[in-house]
Amino acid sequence: MARGHRKEGGPRSPIPVCVPSYGEREAALAARAVREGWVTSDGPYVREFEERFSKVVRAAHGVATSSGTAALHVSLAALGIGPGDEVIVPDFTMVACLDTVLYVGATPVFVDVDPHTWTLDPVATEAAITPRTRAIMPVHIYGHPVDMDALRRTARVHDLAVVEDAAEAHGSEFRGVPVGALGDLGCFSFYATKVISTGEGGMVVTRSARLARRTERLHELAYASESRNYRHTEVGFNYRLTDVQAAVGLAQLERLGEFVRHRRRCARLYREAFEGEPSITVQDEASWAKSAYWVFTVVLPGGASLRTRVATELARRGISTRVAFWPLHRQPFGPRLNGSRGAFPVSDRLGQSGLTLPFGNGISEETIRAVADAVRSVVRSVAPGSNGHS
Ligand SMILES: *Cc1c(COP(=O)(O)O)cnc(C)c1O
Repeated sequence: MARGHRKEGGPRSPIPVCVPSYGEREAALAARAVREGWVTSDGPYVREFEERFSKVVRAAHGVATSSGTAALHVSLAALGIGPGDEVIVPDFTMVACLDTVLYVGATPVFVDVDPHTWTLDPVATEAAITPRTRAIMPVHIYGHPVDMDALRRTARVHDLAVVEDAAEAHGSEFRGVPVGALGDLGCFSFYATKVISTGEGGMVVTRSARLARRTERLHELAYASESRNYRHTEVGFNYRLTDVQAAVGLAQLERLGEFVRHRRRCARLYREAFEGEPSITVQDEASWAKSAYWVFTVVLPGGASLRTRVATELARRGISTRVAFWPLHRQPFGPRLNGSRGAFPVSDRLGQSGLTLPFGNGISEETIRAVADAVRSVVRSVAPGSNGHS
C-alpha cells in the first residue's frame, strides 16, 4: 500500500496520490537514535514523543503504539469491552475500526454518516443505542472532526465510553480544541500516508491517569510490575513503538503546524476549482470545524462505473487516484456480523462515487492546480449533461 508514496517525480512520472515530506531533520534524529543505541522502545525518544504529542493535542497522557490499529485495539481492551458488548462505529471508515471491535469479541453496530461532513451522524447514533451498547467510536474522517458536543451528550446520558479515532486528524480542531482528547481515549496513526508519520506507528492519548496506566500496561504484554518477574495476571499485547520511529515522529511533529497550513491551502485550491462544478461534490467543512485534511476526496455523479472511467482517464494523464473507503456493512466478511441494521445511503454513495485526489505535505500548489484542471475537464467529458452542458 505504501508503494507510490514518495516525492513528486519528474514531468513524466505519475503524480502519486500521497506526497509525503521527510527532511534532513527526520534523517538526523533517526540516525542519532541508532548511534546512541536507542533502537528498542525504552529510550528517551519514545517518552519525549509521547509527552510532546499529547501536549499538542491537550491530553494529559500519551502511550505510543506500533500502529493506529493497535491504538484502537488496546483502547477497547483498556476499557474492558468484550463479548456481549456493542460498539457503535460509523459505516464509512477504514476497516481497522471494525476489526478492532472484533478483536475484543464485541459486536460492531454500524451507523450512517452525515451527508455534509461525512462523519458519524449524532441523531442516527442515538437511535442505534441498545441496552448492550458500551462505547461509541467517532471517526474524524478525512480530518473533519465529528460533532463531539452532540456525541458526548449522548454518551453521558447513556453512560457510554467514547473512543475517538483521530487517525486522520492530527491538528484538526473541534470548536478551537484539538481533537483526540475530547473523549475517554483518543487514537492516532502515524502510518506513511497520515498527516504526520513514523512509517508505521500510533498513539493513544487520554486525560485519565487510570486509563493511561491500563493502556500502558496492556500495550506491553501486561508485565505485572517494574521488577519484570515474568508473572502475568492477564493477557497483554506487544504494541510498542520503537525509539527510532519516535525520533522520526519528533521531527515530523515540529512541522505539524506548517503541514496543516499547507494542507488547508491545498484544500482551498481544490474547493475553489470545483465550486462552479455542480457534478463534483466535496466534503463540507462545518463552521465549528477545522480540518487538517488527511486527503481530498471528490464525489462524482453516477456510480462506480463512471468513477472508474474518470480514474482511468486521469491515470492516462499521469494522475493517480484512489477510491474512497468501502462501506463496512458491505465488506465481504460483513454479512456474518449482525451490526448492519437499517440503511446507509450516505456511506453507500461515498463508497461508490468517492475518488481521492493527489494530496500531501510535500505536494506543490502548482500540482494541485494542474490536477484540479484535469479533474474538471475529465469529469465534463466523461459525464456530459451532469453539469448542465449536455
Ligand atoms: C489509518 C487509519 C487507522 C489505522 O491506522 P494504522 O496505523 O494504519 O493501523 C484507523 N482508523 C482510521 C480512520 C484510519 O484512517
